[in-house]
Amino acid sequence: MIATPQQLADVLRPVKHVLLDFDGPVCSVFAGLPASEVARRLREGLLAGGEQAPAGAAEENDPLALFRLVADARPDLTASTDAALVALETEAVRVARPTPGGESLLRAAVRSGRLVSVVSNNAGAAIEAYLAEHGLSDYVTGVFGRAPGDPSSMKPNPRLLLEAMEAAGTRPEHCIFIGDAARDVEAGKAAGVPTIGYANKPGKDAKLATAGAVVVVDSMQLVSDALA
Ligand SMILES: [Mg+2]
Repeated sequence: MIATPQQLADVLRPVKHVLLDFDGPVCSVFAGLPASEVARRLREGLLAGGEQAPAGAAEENDPLALFRLVADARPDLTASTDAALVALETEAVRVARPTPGGESLLRAAVRSGRLVSVVSNNAGAAIEAYLAEHGLSDYVTGVFGRAPGDPSSMKPNPRLLLEAMEAAGTRPEHCIFIGDAARDVEAGKAAGVPTIGYANKPGKDAKLATAGAVVVVDSMQLVSDALA
């Protein structure tokens, strides 16, 4: 099920613009400051502001899912919740764990004359902070994080992918998206861009293949080698 180097080379041959998900392919955002802790602090902030947590919020340990839940239940709290989440994500990326092969992929893509954009449901400010801290800003043409205060911009919505292509002046047939979740593959499909599934956990390869990933890899280094 894992792509061979030849399959990857075939998929990447027409690619001029690499669209890259952040959490997973570049780093593990919540490796140092756990997602459950970020969700807890986000809830605490709501309560401290005199608000009640919406139904289901107490059990939600995924900060982005929690943000979506709060925004759905209380649209008036969307902007302030997003702002609190941006601050927590920015704190989290300082202690995030780089993905093996992720940095090498950025360098290989740029050395081979391709553009790279980061397309992520995380906050653009947090992504930019990570790239700057790791000396990677120059390898990335554009950062497309979720639209501030607008959870509907998040994948599986193709909006951020479409914005990345528009900004770079590239067309879907010359792009590839690399992501580690079924929603990435769905967003890619909706934008007309093939998606390489990065299966960084057991069982993910089947999920990504079922969602329609054009190929699945279990290492970012494989993709980096194929780009080089
Ligand atoms: Mg991801």
